[in-house]
Amino acid sequence: MSIVAFIGVGNMGGGMAANLAKAGHEVRAFDLSEDAVARAVSHGCTAATSARAAAHGADAIVTMLPAGSHVAAAYHDTLFAAAGLHAILIDCSTIDVATARSVGEAAAQKGLAMVDAPVSGGTAAADAGTLTFMVGGPAAAFEAARPILEAMGKAVIHAGGAGMGQAAKICNNMILGATMIATAEAFVLAEKLGLDAQTFFDISSKASGQSWSMTSYCPVPGPVPSSPANRDYAGGFAGALMLKDLKLALEAASKAGASVPMGAQAEALYQMFANNGGGAQDFSAIVKLLRG
Ligand code: NAD
Repeated sequence: MSIVAFIGVGNMGGGMAANLAKAGHEVRAFDLSEDAVARAVSHGCTAATSARAAAHGADAIVTMLPAGSHVAAAYHDTLFAAAGLHAILIDCSTIDVATARSVGEAAAQKGLAMVDAPVSGGTAAADAGTLTFMVGGPAAAFEAARPILEAMGKAVIHAGGAGMGQAAKICNNMILGATMIATAEAFVLAEKLGLDAQTFFDISSKASGQSWSMTSYCPVPGPVPSSPANRDYAGGFAGALMLKDLKLALEAASKAGASVPMGAQAEALYQMFANNGGGAQDFSAIVKLLRG
C-alpha cells in the first residue's frame, strides 16, 4: 500500500481521502481548514502540519482545490520541490485547461509524473467511491495514477496529454448545462400547454428528446424519484459549480477560437440563475427561472 498526501480535503476531497484510507493507503491529509482535516482524521487519515510535510516521501500526491490559481500555487510553491522523483502527482480539481497544461508540462520538465484528473459526480459519488475520472497526461503517468484513482472511482479514462482531462470535463459539462436548460424549458412549455409532466416524460424519454438531463436528473418532481427536483433542489450539483464549469468552457473556447453559441447562452442563463440566488441550489432548479 502507498503513502498518499492529500491536499484539499473539503466537500469532495474529504470523501475521496476517506476512500483511499479505507483501501489501506496511509493518507496524510492537509487543508487550510482545521475542521476539514479533523473530518478526514475521523475517517482514517492522519493530519499533516503542512502540504510540504504531507508530500515529503509520499508515493502519491493528490490535490482537490477550488481553482487554477490554487493549483498552480500549490505545485509551483511547494509540491514540485517536496515531491520525490518516484511520486505520482494527481490534480483532481476542476480548473482551466491552460493552467492544467502548463502545470503538467512544468512537472514533466522537472522529471515528475503528473496527471490532471478532474471528476464527474458530486459529493455523494465522492463519499461512495463511484466518481468518474477523466485523465490527462503521459501514458506512463496515467498507469501510475490508475490504482490510486480506482480506489476512489468507478471509471478511470485516459483522455490524452496534459490538460485533456480538463478539456473532457468542460466539454461534457457544457453539454450538460445546455441539455438541462433545453429539458427544463420543454417541461415548462408542456405545462403551459396543459400537457401532464409524467405523460410528457413517458413520451419524450422514449423519443428523440431523451437525454441524461431528462431520464437521470429530470428537472421537475415526479418522473425520476431520485432527481433533486423531488427534494426541493437541495444537494446535487450546485448551480454555482455549473456556472464555474461553463465559464471555464467559454474561456477555453475563446482561446481555441471555437464557436460555442449554446454554451454561451447556457452561461448567461446560469449567471442570471446565480444572480437570483440559485447558486446554492441544484443546477436543475434553473426550471424555476424559466417558469418566470
Ligand atoms: P471545497 O471548497 O469544499 O474544498 C476545497 C478545499 O480546499 C477547502 O477545504 C479549502 O480549505 C482547501 N484549500 C484551498 N486552498 C488550499 C491550499 N492552498 N492548501 C490546502 N487546502 C486548500 O470544494 P469542493 O466542492 O470539494 O470542490 C473541490 C474541487 O472539485 C473544485 O475544483 C470543484 O470545482 C470540483 N468539483 C466539485 C464537485 C462538487 O459537487 N462539489 C463536483 C465535481 C468537481
